[in-house]
Amino acid sequence: MRECGDCSLCCRVMGVESLDKPRGVWCQHCTKPGCKIYDTRPKDCRTFSCAWLVNDTVPEWMKPNKSQLVLSPNPDGNGLMVDVDPQCHRAWREKRVFEYLTQIAMRMRVRINIGGETFYMEKRHDVRETA
Ligand code: SF4
Ligand code: SF4
Repeated sequence: MRECGDCSLCCRVMGVESLDKPRGVWCQHCTKPGCKIYDTRPKDCRTFSCAWLVNDTVPEWMKPNKSQLVLSPNPDGNGLMVDVDPQCHRAWREKRVFEYLTQIAMRMRVRINIGGETFYMEKRHDVRETA
């Protein structure tokens, strides 16, 4: 199994409800990499593993701190969720990354979160923006 190592991007791009931490900002407890409150971190953090970490079919170059994207199952149970570092908001449009996401979108819905914005990639390579 892979290890997080030098990555801590989920502590920036993901929201953590129990900490009132919005998407796209560093958690106050993050030591980049690492967590000051590791032993007492909230359940959301204990139970989260990104797709790169647990699925070695996700390419090595998609490691979150290299690609600036965190992939995980969509919480609504429908497809893949991609959380993009808002400081690198075009990271998901990088050619190799976009082609990879497009391939996934042929099989399932891909939801892209960039800060407060959400886009969906669906079959036929459509990109749709929602309010
Ligand atoms: S984004 Fe993935 S690899 Fe990076 S710290 Fe979080 S779980 Fe680990
Ligand atoms: S509490 Fe720790 S594991 Fe959870 S987001 Fe903050 S730094 Fe990351």
